[in-house]
Amino acid sequence: MKGSSIRSRLVMAFAVMLVLLLAVSVVALHRFSVLTNAMHEFVDHQARLAFLAQRANQHAQNAAMHLLRLLQTREREQRVPLYASMDAALADSDAAIGGLERAGLMGDGDNNIRQLVELRAHYGESFQETVELIEIEGLLAARRHFDDKTDPLLKSLLNTTLAISGQQQDLMQSEVEQLEAAVANARILVMLIAASALLAGGLLAVLISRSIVRPVQKAVMVAESIAAGDYVCQVPAGEGREMGALMQALDVMRESIASREQHILKLAYVDSLTGLPNRTRFMEVLADAFAHGQGVLILLDIDRFAPINNALGYQVGDRMLQQVALRLAQDLPETHFVARLGGDEFAIVIRGVGHEAITAYAMSVLARLREPMMLDSQRLDIDASLGIVRFPEDALSVTALQRRADLAMSLAKRRHAGYAFAADVADEPPHEQLSLIGEMRDALLRNEFTVYFQPKMELATRRIKGAEALLRWRHPERGLVPPGRFIPFAEQTGFIREITPWLLSTVIAHAAEWHKAGLGIVASANISTLDLLNLDFVDQVRQLLHAHALPPGQLCIEITESALMDDPELALKHLDDLAALGVKLSIDDYGSGQASLAYVKNLPVHELKIDRTFVDKVDQLPKNAAIVRSTILLCRELNLTVVAEGAETQDELDWLTNNGCEVVQGYGIAKPMPAEEFPRWVAAFKGNA
Ligand code: C2E
Ligand code: CA
Ligand code: CA
Repeated sequence: MKGSSIRSRLVMAFAVMLVLLLAVSVVALHRFSVLTNAMHEFVDHQARLAFLAQRANQHAQNAAMHLLRLLQTREREQRVPLYASMDAALADSDAAIGGLERAGLMGDGDNNIRQLVELRAHYGESFQETVELIEIEGLLAARRHFDDKTDPLLKSLLNTTLAISGQQQDLMQSEVEQLEAAVANARILVMLIAASALLAGGLLAVLISRSIVRPVQKAVMVAESIAAGDYVCQVPAGEGREMGALMQALDVMRESIASREQHILKLAYVDSLTGLPNRTRFMEVLADAFAHGQGVLILLDIDRFAPINNALGYQVGDRMLQQVALRLAQDLPETHFVARLGGDEFAIVIRGVGHEAITAYAMSVLARLREPMMLDSQRLDIDASLGIVRFPEDALSVTALQRRADLAMSLAKRRHAGYAFAADVADEPPHEQLSLIGEMRDALLRNEFTVYFQPKMELATRRIKGAEALLRWRHPERGLVPPGRFIPFAEQTGFIREITPWLLSTVIAHAAEWHKAGLGIVASANISTLDLLNLDFVDQVRQLLHAHALPPGQLCIEITESALMDDPELALKHLDDLAALGVKLSIDDYGSGQASLAYVKNLPVHELKIDRTFVDKVDQLPKNAAIVRSTILLCRELNLTVVAEGAETQDELDWLTNNGCEVVQGYGIAKPMPAEEFPRWVAAFKGNA
């Protein structure tokens, strides 16, 4: 039954059922017709016997009545016709008895008939004797003979016929009982056959449904496992034509779903330009790695990608990214995962790596990327900045991990160091930062930003020559939030583009007031990379100066080295435009990056601010002292004003004075103060001086 089709199985099952039903009916019909025949035969036979016995009895009595009439008839002539009818009655009786004799009876019945035949003979003789006595000796003698002999014989004859019919009844009784038994037997037989037909039918139904349900269940299981995403499951070959076809269809379905899903996965998880996993995939892998142990996340950003893209066209830029992807994916160990996050940003997730090996790996990645690239027979030298975060020790969440990697990458960029570790970047409580980012826009609308000023003092004269504007956020709940907590995110999210115009107009407004009051103080404002590269920036500055009637020389703009590196050409053009406008320019945080003085020399800048880290303990640390001293000397030669940032102690101030530093800015002079306080402070300071 297994290999056959469902149709043939059903046909077979129903055929067997029909045959069984037919058999039951035929057997039942046969049995009952046999019984009916037997019944008919029996009834016929019994009826004839009863009839004959009755006739014999009747005619015998008839004949006896004729004889009695004879015995009462005195005239001979009158007796003659009576003889005839008496003989006829006797003959009829004889015929009936003869019939009984011929029909014959079983067992004791035979004896009775034999007895009847004998009695009939004796009765006949006695009857004849009576008749003869009538004619010979007269009625009286005949009457006596009749009473003595003939009548008793007649009586026993009649009794015998009655006995025969009684016996017949007994026989009939037993025959009926036998028939009843036969009918009961037949019923049992029919019931047995019917029961076995039912049983066989039931068995067949179970077998058939099993033979259909089992493979269907198998098919259901296969379909379920496909639905659950198991595309490698072995689809069993179906038994029979229909199941075979169904299983084959399931197999085809499994394959096409698998290939379609793979395609969809590819679309969802693969970056179409480079073929590397995309940001979505990266997020999954990072979350998984973070959840399952220690590892490292490296965020990689190509340096100066925007200017390359602008100068050589997007097609070259795309091919460059493809080359970078190839280099990153080349010889990738199994524990390493590389993805392109978008633009010129890539990420590497490394599972379970020893932290010592990371520096070596980062350097090898950089070395590979720095190999010259030939695109359209042009030689391209590229570089990248890597931000490295270790987990779990550097971050409590995946979001924090990414943010710290981003900060580390920015640091690496600023310092032109190739790579930087998150541990090198001072971190803030992550939840606080996140909510701050969300609140920045409202802060600007609600006027929560404010500007503090920190004085810059000329060491030789102890006069305040300038002041640096430093942004503060008067947060309704957190109080005064320093810029380090929100400026990096304003830069990352681009929101700085909205802050800077406000800042510039505020700073210029204050500077204009000081100018009117004759303070002679140059106001410095810090700007970000995005501001410097903003095409409207120079115009904005020009309009603000004009609107507040501030001479351009009273404004100084501080730029970090990294702001110059992202797109040096555009940055330089804007610096030229600003310088042409008459605005002072200052290089901020000098020394923290990699800009050399030779590079700075060619920029239209007026001032150089030595980074706080070198001024710190300059009187004690020979290394810092050497750097600051040589910078001062070189600046003097290049005609640049040198500003030492972050001078806190009197010893530091003395050291700077003794070594020819022109200007200092630091807690040693004054901490940043609210703009409104600044003019009074200057007046008091002068008074002190
Ligand atoms: P920066 O331009 O280097 O500003 C100098 C920072 O050094 C200020 O921190 C100042 O308070 C701090 N400082 C000055 N003297 C000392 C000292 O003697 N000891 C110590 N420990 N620190 C001293 P602040 O105000 O927190 O600003 C941090 C940074 O935020 C700034 O560094 C600047 O890069 C950025 N920033 C501040 N205001 C603005 C702004 O309006 N626009 C932009 N784009 N960036 C800003
Ligand atoms: Ca500054
Ligand atoms: Ca600085």
